[in-house]
Amino acid sequence: MSMYIFVTGGVVSSVGKGITVASIGTILKSRHISVSVQKLDPYLNVDPGTMSPYQHGEVFVTQDGAETDLDLGNYERFIDVELTADSNVTSGQIYSAVIAKERRGDFLGGTIQVVPHVTTEIKNRFKQLAQKSQAEVVIVEVGGTVGDIEGQPFLEAIRQMRKDVGRDNVLYIHVTLLPYIYATQELKTKPTQHSVNELRRIGIQPDIIICRSDYPISEAIRDKISLFCDVDREAVLPLPTVATIYEVPLILEDEGLGQLIINRLGLKAPPSDLNQWQEMVTCLKEPCEPVTIALVGKYVELQDAYYSVREALCHAALYHRRSVKIDWVHSEELEKEGGEALLQQAQGIIVPGGFGVRGIEGMVKVASYARQNKIPYLGLCLGMQVMVIEFARHAFASDRANSTEFDADTPYPVIDLLPEQKAVANKGGTMRLGNYPCRLLADSLAAKAYGQELVYERHRHRFEFNNEFLTRLQEVGLVFSGMSPDGRLVEICELGDHPWMVSCQFHPEFGSRPGRPHPLFRDFIGAAKDVLREGAQAKMPLSS
Ligand code: GLN
Repeated sequence: MSMYIFVTGGVVSSVGKGITVASIGTILKSRHISVSVQKLDPYLNVDPGTMSPYQHGEVFVTQDGAETDLDLGNYERFIDVELTADSNVTSGQIYSAVIAKERRGDFLGGTIQVVPHVTTEIKNRFKQLAQKSQAEVVIVEVGGTVGDIEGQPFLEAIRQMRKDVGRDNVLYIHVTLLPYIYATQELKTKPTQHSVNELRRIGIQPDIIICRSDYPISEAIRDKISLFCDVDREAVLPLPTVATIYEVPLILEDEGLGQLIINRLGLKAPPSDLNQWQEMVTCLKEPCEPVTIALVGKYVELQDAYYSVREALCHAALYHRRSVKIDWVHSEELEKEGGEALLQQAQGIIVPGGFGVRGIEGMVKVASYARQNKIPYLGLCLGMQVMVIEFARHAFASDRANSTEFDADTPYPVIDLLPEQKAVANKGGTMRLGNYPCRLLADSLAAKAYGQELVYERHRHRFEFNNEFLTRLQEVGLVFSGMSPDGRLVEICELGDHPWMVSCQFHPEFGSRPGRPHPLFRDFIGAAKDVLREGAQAKMPLSS
């Protein structure tokens, strides 16, 4: 039977609860304990797929095609696992399931209530993941903070689990923030005391409290939290803000979190081995020459909208023993006269995914700039569609070439809906989602990057390259280097006459890991790192 670790948040959100959960996974995995992870999102959407990136940040896609919370990306990167739809549960899913059962007549005669019907449905999701994954430990993160109205049924469900599976098989961890008061120059514990009180009010006493803070946490503060919150002294763990998120597992391990969990849950495990992780973090923190990459999108005000892209760039730079400096360029800014000036320093350009017409012309302009100035370019999903549109405009000498997403009447619909998508009316969960195979063209840049013939990558899009234009564009230099095995769908295209301009219809960023960068990101940074831009100086050979 699986053990459960439930992680709640107190005081405020966005203090790194997701990274903490991911780090707990890293620590347990380093002791050869198998883990699975689940995120509970209290909002009423069925999934974040229909939300604006401004509301939610990135939508992370699992290999089985679920549109999920971006925290799942951190779980996958930190624990090096591939999760499924079972790892993200929302109130929307729970209520839909309960109401569907009610309509079916499953509860005939009964009154349907939050307790027990909704809470039972929630607990079933924990047990289902435990059963399917066969993990020794299932870590469950409750989104939001204690006290949120929508979060109540989830907290009640995790409370009930103590009875369902036994006190010794569950562990409650509370992650809080200690705010710093400038006037008196001290960290305050009161909000933590309040949030623990709130947890206790619903019957949960935390076993471990992890305290986030921008400043060092004194022993006196740990004592105080231990006393007021009734948690053992060694179970109050400080987690100060660090330079890189990948350092968090090392800090928590140093503070004894792994051993604490092992002891409390009575697990048998060998000592932890985080040596490789430590080496990776040491490299990440070493000062090294940056590669400047312009990331051109329309949600750049909220960098979380491109979370996995940013991480994948960081992993790829690490591979080349470089750091990455991302210039966040708003595609609408590029549409203005002289907007290209924003690209002057870029050694490489990346156009990530997106939806809707806003900012598209700026992206087309950037693809044209990359093509003509021979700057390495990586297009992801929309970024591929934009590269095709730009190339077609150039090839057909018409600025009307477009995707039917942006111009329904274009005479050159180089990107269009598949016939099966034309009949789709509902917006939620109806795109082409999750893993699909892609066969690579021998000797192409894509094939060189992967070193394989057949790859599987995650998708999230409605529109596709329109094969009516394939031959004509091929004749003038567009190389279709990745196709679905049935030859029906273009998955990757690249430019013949360019150092490195490669785009894919899928999202390689989701598959990148800190110690194992995605091949396309790795080769993109590899091509960009030696590009010299204005004001940059070539390295002089050292004379002896
Ligand atoms: N809007 C495009 C489509 O639906 C691209 C989607 C994306 O970039 N994820 O096909």
